[in-house]
Parts: sequence; structure tokens; C-alpha cells
Amino acid sequence: MVDGHNVDGHVGVISRVASDPAPHTVPRFQLPDLRELQHNMHANESAQRYFHQAADIMDLSQNMRTLLSTPLREVKVQIALEMDDGQLATFIGFRVQHDKARGPMKGGLRYHPEVDGDEVLALASLMTWKSAVVNIPYGGAKGGIAIDPSKYSQREIERITRKFVDEIHEVIGPDKDIPAPDMGTNAQTMAWIMNQYEKYHGFNPAVVTGKPVELHGADGREEATGRGVAIVTQAALERLKRSIKGATIAIQGFGNVGSYASRILSELGAKIVAIADQWGGIYNPHGLDIARLMEHSRTTGKVIDFEGATNISNAELLAADVDVLIPAALGGVLTGENAKDVRARLIVEAANGPTTPEADVIFEKNNLLVIPDILANAGGVTVSYFEWAQNRQHFKWELSEVRSRLERTMTESFDRVWKIATEKNVPLRTAAYVLGIGRVGRATILAGI
Ligand code: NAD
Repeated sequence: MVDGHNVDGHVGVISRVASDPAPHTVPRFQLPDLRELQHNMHANESAQRYFHQAADIMDLSQNMRTLLSTPLREVKVQIALEMDDGQLATFIGFRVQHDKARGPMKGGLRYHPEVDGDEVLALASLMTWKSAVVNIPYGGAKGGIAIDPSKYSQREIERITRKFVDEIHEVIGPDKDIPAPDMGTNAQTMAWIMNQYEKYHGFNPAVVTGKPVELHGADGREEATGRGVAIVTQAALERLKRSIKGATIAIQGFGNVGSYASRILSELGAKIVAIADQWGGIYNPHGLDIARLMEHSRTTGKVIDFEGATNISNAELLAADVDVLIPAALGGVLTGENAKDVRARLIVEAANGPTTPEADVIFEKNNLLVIPDILANAGGVTVSYFEWAQNRQHFKWELSEVRSRLERTMTESFDRVWKIATEKNVPLRTAAYVLGIGRVGRATILAGI
């Protein structure tokens, strides 16, 4: 039964199914008890907690909660192969398909030593809400291999990737589940996946996005997540009556997302004063020259020891005295222990799941604005959708068209989430979940269970 309150005059919210008890008044948002949260949470517990915070606001029934939070399919495969030195190696690969109510499932593929089933499940559910927040016709999925790619040759990574596709090719596809790059993977990885998939299924470039531009990729995809982060950062600063020009910013992560976000934000006039990667960070109160830093990072493989800057630790970066903090690397980096040290007034979650619920409570108490991951980093999946659409149309869009459509999508989504947060007096994260869950719930009910 679709009823419920209209959260923004457009998106209906599923509040009850027929067998539910009588409705009661929509509860006002309440800060959870900090003591309840004083234990280490796994990634999926965090994702579930954020889901239920929004579900409470929406008065979502238990049946709907179970339906929407249970993944459709979890795949775990063995990837065994002979390495360059002739030794046998075995890796574990994951693909979790969370929800397909709004369209084919979509989500990145991560190569990182900390990948596990719990994290992949959490990230798959984030993809469901994220696609819905920016209103693109996708469900959510995520995948990964527990591996440190820096320890293997390109040839080995290629063979591992192809072997993984051999194991999962039947469950992915342009109308089923479409992988994309995430931490540790890139356009080259996507090219191998496409090529291996096509050995089974014929010409099918839309099976993955984030491909090289020379091989059915889209202009503007590589920069898209960073550009989207820059767009929402500027929009949030405007709401705080601050200009992007001269705003000081610290960014954790200088990979795909962190490097493009820093370049585009500095082009907009912001001062990037601190950047870190996995080997440590750098700080310059006068602002870092991003073009030169990109060159330095390309040649040395790290950001530390950059001329004119002081080396700092990742912990110091998170506590830097800046206007904006952008975590753009791992999840779970802002915790109950370090949240009180954060001095930024605005946090933009470029990474997936960087803030634990313990930290979220502290930020809320300290009146610190957090743009949640499912909005802040949705530029990537948005342009992935544009790439998929181009592949299916066999028609290439101009870069200017990709950028202007991305700008419109990010700005409209930000405005909508902001409006829900204001009307319901809830944090932006809860508002974004309310929007995402509402859209997925409505699609689920309309299609029929
Ligand atoms: P990447 O592999 O290109 O870069 C990751 C960066 O994080 C590197 O600079 C690495 O050195 C740094 N890093 C890794 N471990 C670290 C640690 N322990 N401490 C500090 N820094 C560390 O990955 P990416 O594609 O830029 O993804 C970064 C984040 O953004 C991830 O959370 C990812 O899920 C999220 N994201 C990526 C995209 C995308 O389009 N690539 C889209 C949405 C969300």
C-alpha cells in the first residue's frame, strides 16, 4: 500500500503495508544515545543504523524495512591462478546485488586488502539509496577482491580480473548489474572486464562504465565524482553564507576522487591547504599548487615531501583548522575517538562510509554540517549512467553536455535533500536516506511484490 506523507511534494514515502499496526505520529528526529554506540561497528551495522534512522522518521513498517534492507543476492567466488613466478595464488571475490526495484543494479568494484563481505554488502546498499537520491534508473550493487593491487604486476591484475569475470559473468550484464571503478580499480580494469564479458556474450560495452574514452568510455566520467563533490561543496558553502573563494579545504585521499576534487575546487577559488594519501599528508597554509602536486604524486607515487609544504599525518589532516574537510579515501575514518578533534564546519563525504554513527552523533551535537556520501559522491554513478545511456544509444555526447547535465543533477539533488532536512528538522544524511528509501520503496510497491 503506497500512502504516507509527501516528503517534498514529489516523492511519496512508503509508510505502512496493510498488515501493519495503526499509524502513529511521525517521530521527531532524536539524537541516539552515545553510550549505545560505544562499540566498534562493522560497515554494515553503520549502514543499517543510518537506514533505520530514516525509516523511523518515515514510520516505515517492519515488513518494508526487512524487504528494503535485505540484499537480493550475495556472490562469493574463488579466484585461483598461477602468478608470474609460477606460484599458485587464491583470492576471494565478492559481488553483492542489493536491490533492483528502480532498474539494473549498479556499483563499483574495489581492489583493497580490507575488502570483506560485510563491507561489500554495506556499500551495495549505499548504491541503492545513492542512485535513488540522484534519481537515475538503477538499483544498487557492489563488488570487490581482497587484494593489495600495488603488490602485483599489471599482467597479474589483468588475469585476476579476467578470472573474476569468468566466475561472475552470468550474474552481471547491461540489464542486470553494471560494475564501475572504485578504490584500486580504474578505466583499464573496466576495459578488461568488458573484453572478458564479451567473450561469453558478444559486443556489450554497456556491461561496465568508467571505461577508457578510447574504448566506449564517456568524456567526463573520470572526473565526475570529484566534480560532483566540488558542486555540492560550493552549494553547501552558499547555504552557510560562505563563498567558495578563499575557503580552506583539507582532503584525505589523492586518487581518482581526491585529485579531481582538489583540482576543480581550486579552479573554483578554494584554497586546498592539506592533502593526504595512504603514506601520509602535507600542509601549506597558503594553499597547495594542485597541478604541481599531481606531477609530484605521479613521479614519486606519494604526496609527502612536496616542496613548500610540511609533512603531516592522516590524523593531523582530519583535525586541520579548515573550513571544509573532505574524506576521499577509506570508510570509517571519522570515529567516536577523533570526531571531537575535527575543526572544519563542513564535512563533504567523498568517500563511501567515512563517518561512523558515533562520529555522526558528535558532529550533530557540535552543529557541524555533513553532506552524506549518498549525495556527495553521487556524481560518479550519475555520469556512469550517462556513459551507459551513450553505449546503448550508440551516440556520443559532448563533454559540455555531460558536465551541464551532471551539474543540474547534483544541484537539484542537493536542493531537494536540503529542503527535506529543513522541513523535517533532520540532518542531511537522514534527509538523503528519506529521499532514497522513499523512491525505492515506491518503485517496489508499484511493481508489485
Ligand atoms: P583510488 O584508489 O583512486 O584512491 C584512493 C586514495 O586513498 C589514494 O590516494 C590512497 O593513497 C588513499 N588511501 C588509501 N588508504 C588510505 C589510508 N589508510 N589513509 C589515507 N589515505 C588512504 O580510489 P577512488 O576511486 O578515489 O575512491 C576513493 C573513495 O571514493 C572510496 O571510498 C570510493 O568508494 C569513493 N568513491 C569513488 C568513486 C569513483 O568514481 N571512483 C565514486 C563514488 C565513491
